[in-house]
Amino acid sequence: MPLVEASPRWPNFATTEYFVSGGFPFQEGWPIGYPREEEFIIRLRDGSFHRARVDFTTQYRDEGLRWRTSRGQLVDKSIVVCWHRASTVGPRATSCFDGRHPIRHHSVGAMIEADGAFLLINRRKGTPGYAGIAGHQEYGETPDEALIREIGEESGLQICHAELVIQEDVEETCRRGIPRHLWSVYWCRVQGAPQLNQDEARAIGWYMPTEIVAMPLEPVWRTWFERMQIINTVKL
Ligand SMILES: [Zn+2]
Repeated sequence: MPLVEASPRWPNFATTEYFVSGGFPFQEGWPIGYPREEEFIIRLRDGSFHRARVDFTTQYRDEGLRWRTSRGQLVDKSIVVCWHRASTVGPRATSCFDGRHPIRHHSVGAMIEADGAFLLINRRKGTPGYAGIAGHQEYGETPDEALIREIGEESGLQICHAELVIQEDVEETCRRGIPRHLWSVYWCRVQGAPQLNQDEARAIGWYMPTEIVAMPLEPVWRTWFERMQIINTVKL
């Protein structure tokens, strides 16, 4: 049986606009034939995304009924809306904002992780609070290209691995006055030591989830850190 990259509805349900209008539950299929080491991005009925593997440790292993998330949570297959191989997760956007009728901007964000810590910056402009490296896609730029450019501009770091983990529309007005943004948020690993870009930010550094939960974050970043279960399990 040939391996497939994603469950049939991943292209629809990976974005919020389809997710909220979609009818489920339904039988979405199961990644039969994958090696046990394979990691996936799964989306649950509550809209949350998780990194997970097929759970081979239980009595259900033959039926393939459960996932085990990277945080050790067991998830029943019936509440998984869609899944995608983590190593190849997509999709790419092919267009940026429409310059004549800018209904929404396209933006990218980087959840950069190393040894359990996350790279955050405190920007000089825009929404107050700490955030991951992020920015608008330039016209004609794919999210992947914008991610590489923004990380380089804001930290001097090079990406060695990136996976798209969140793609959704957010009602949020930027300093150019556009009230809606299609965000592509990537989980990243990098090479090098981060350098502060004085024009862009007041501070840059690595922070553990126990610190992040108590920091003033830009609202969208608090939402994403919670959704990825990075900070909502931390006890203050
Ligand atoms: Zn914008």
